Amino acid sequence: MSSTAGTASARGSGRRYVSGLEAWALEMETTLAKTVECADQGMGHLEEQLAVGTLELQRQALERAAQAKADATPPRCPVCGRPLTRKERGHQRTVETRFGPVKIQRTRGWCARCKQWRFPADAALRLGETGTASPSLQEAAALLVAQMPVADAAAILERLTGVKCSPSTLDREARRQGRRAEQQREQGNAAVQDWQRLVEVARSAQATAPAQPFTMVIEIDAWNIRERDQWGQTKPLREAGQAPSRWHWVYGATVFRLDQRGQTAGGRPVISERGYVMTRGGVDGLRHMLWAEAVRRGLLQAEKVLVVADGAVWIWNVVADRFGGAHELLDFYHACQHLWTVAEAVYGEGTAEARAWVEPLMEQLRAGKAAKVIRRLEELELRSEASTAETVTRERQYFQSHQSRLGYAEAAAQGWPLGSGAMEASCRQYQGRFKRPGQFWSAAGDESLLALHDCWRNGRWRQLFPHIGCANPSRN
Ligand SMILES: [Zn+2]
Repeated sequence: MSSTAGTASARGSGRRYVSGLEAWALEMETTLAKTVECADQGMGHLEEQLAVGTLELQRQALERAAQAKADATPPRCPVCGRPLTRKERGHQRTVETRFGPVKIQRTRGWCARCKQWRFPADAALRLGETGTASPSLQEAAALLVAQMPVADAAAILERLTGVKCSPSTLDREARRQGRRAEQQREQGNAAVQDWQRLVEVARSAQATAPAQPFTMVIEIDAWNIRERDQWGQTKPLREAGQAPSRWHWVYGATVFRLDQRGQTAGGRPVISERGYVMTRGGVDGLRHMLWAEAVRRGLLQAEKVLVVADGAVWIWNVVADRFGGAHELLDFYHACQHLWTVAEAVYGEGTAEARAWVEPLMEQLRAGKAAKVIRRLEELELRSEASTAETVTRERQYFQSHQSRLGYAEAAAQGWPLGSGAMEASCRQYQGRFKRPGQFWSAAGDESLLALHDCWRNGRWRQLFPHIGCANPSRN
């Protein structure tokens, strides 16, 4: 087909499209006019009619534009750039989109260098070699499935967009995007292992860091997740004398600058911007990811670094390994719980004596008099009965081993958080998705979903889906 004939035919189909639009607009006006006259129909009815009535129009416009892009793609190998041979036109592909299924005719050609059949149009449209979902639908799948079970996700997608997508397609797409999020996260973290790229990352962190000296706060914790890794093997494992383990630890942390912490008008604490890291990749995985996230958020520019966490040994090992020189603080509320354990062991659960013993000690602890608290525990240890001695000794040792992390008075004077509440709130948010009753995950599946959550919460969603905001020039 000559180019003149091609242009003429495009002009013809363009005219048909415009007259189709006019017919659609007339029909839509008629439909809306009926609702306007109908006493028992309101704005919701108008919205619904417009949303549903526009879908097919949008689908057609998308199909047309995607076909035009496919037609305009030069027949070159998208991998090596070599002109393709043995070209065959008319290979149809159906793509599920946010407006419904779209059919595209593409040209297939042979790359003599790669020794592969290629579809240049697929590469130009940024469609993967496999999968049926369009980029926008891929994003919707990732967003929804990261937040809710797939059956709910499919129902909500259909209700909000009018697009039918089976739960299994949504699940497959979300996992595919999760694996992409994992790869992207790993690339980002690997970058700071390389000295030269670390310098670049630190420079870009410097550009957004405040001019005045600032404190970086890191809170670390872990929570557990139920997985299906030994699904169906319960009986053979039991017979072999092994209990199947279905609960696994997710290690996590949150990173923010002290000046990013504030309060709502109602006095609720809020953090305007912060980083999240959650992984099933063990303590080593967390150490690697947390350090990278902290560097991206200004670790190397921070005047002071504060770590707040509970008393778990692994946490303070990570801190010693990667954040040497940081100010360490044992979560105040955990410390108080340990005092309560002693009080209840010695004076009985829920007794006035227990409360009378523990309250002054909590006051002393908050006032920075940790040495006094430890002395009180030592005195109690000497005169405690055999039945409680073990508890008192264990808790005395707990406070002694964390003595350097009990500087609550100094922390309060600096305006530092005394507890790791920000991290605990994050854990609860993740648990809301991962710990629904009867929900099981596989190790690979939940790491993918954790990576999607991290990507979303860390404000890097657009790296995963570059089309976001392209219709809004100010965000380009
Ligand atoms: Zn090639």
